[in-house]
Formats: sequence, C-alpha cells, structure tokens
Amino acid sequence: MKRAIYPGSFDPVTNGHCDVVERARKLFDEVIVAVAHNDEKQPLFSLEERLDLLKQTVGRIDNVRIAQFDGLLVEFARTEKAAAVIRGLRAVSDFEFEFQMALMNRKLEGSVETIFLMPKEEYTYLSSRLVKEIARLGGDVSEFVPGIVIVALDKKFKR
Ligand code: ADP
Repeated sequence: MKRAIYPGSFDPVTNGHCDVVERARKLFDEVIVAVAHNDEKQPLFSLEERLDLLKQTVGRIDNVRIAQFDGLLVEFARTEKAAAVIRGLRAVSDFEFEFQMALMNRKLEGSVETIFLMPKEEYTYLSSRLVKEIARLGGDVSEFVPGIVIVALDKKFKR
C-alpha cells in the first residue's frame, strides 16, 4: 500500500489543488490531503471550514482521505506510514521555497520523498491567495474553484 500526503493550507481549495490530487491518485494507492493547522498565516476560512470544503470536493474521490495535522509534517508522514509528500509546482517562483522545504524534510526524515507535480497549464497562475483577493473585490472566480467554494466565498464576503 503506497500512501502519499498532500499537505497545505487549502484556504480555500482551488481547481489547481484538485488537479494535483487527481494526478497524485494515479501514482499512489491512497492520497491524504492534510490541512496544516499550526500555520502562522491568518486564514480566511477556519480549519473546520477548510476541512469541510475539501471533504465535499476532493474528499469524494476514491482513495482520497482528508485529514489535519499539527507539528512537523515528517512526523505526520511517519504516523501515517506515507512514502511520499506531494507538492504542486506552478512556476519558478515556487521552486526556491519548495526546494528548501523538500531538502529540510529529507534531512529530518530520510525515508520520505517529496514529489512535485505540475498542474494543467491553465492552473499555473492560480493560487488561493489570488482567488480570495478577486472574490473580496467582487470578481468572478467560477473558473478557478469548485461550486461550493464560490458559495462559501460569497458568504464570507456577505453577498
Ligand atoms: P501552502 O500554504 O502550503 O503553500 P497551499 O494550500 O497554498 O498551501 O498549497 C498547497 C500545495 O499546493 C503547495 O504545494 C502549492 O504549491 C500547491 N498548489 C497551490 N495552488 C496550486 C495550483 N494552482 N497548481 C498546482 N499546485 C498548486
């Protein structure tokens, strides 16, 4: 049983995240989408809201499980007996930080590999941060996020 963990903030889940999950699922028997909740970032959506949006979207795909973790990612990977950590790479700008994280995680736990997956080209400019910014300013994000996320964003920004 090959298991992978796809960690992130998912604030909120976007079509880019969904694309990466679909790709990872083809490579592994189980993919755990893991929401970090010791993040220093101030999220728009609470941990429960982020988990709920994930459960109602990618959580519906076979062999995909939604989880949360705090503390070190490599500890979580060890507990779950995961062989790999999945990260999405959109552009060169992601590279520096992701490279550093991957090597540090390898230092901390040599048995867990980090695997980078590229999304469909049309999602390479997509981020949760931009989606929130556009939604806050009243723009249309329907091409970028699942339907229930549009509803959740509308509620947050009281429309
Ligand atoms: P984090 O706060 O850990 O960056 P995110 O939820 O923003 O969490 O992203 C989680 C992972 O998904 C990261 O590896 C990020 O690079 C990747 N990702 C985010 N958006 C996209 C996208 N549009 N296409 C591919 N990967 C993405």
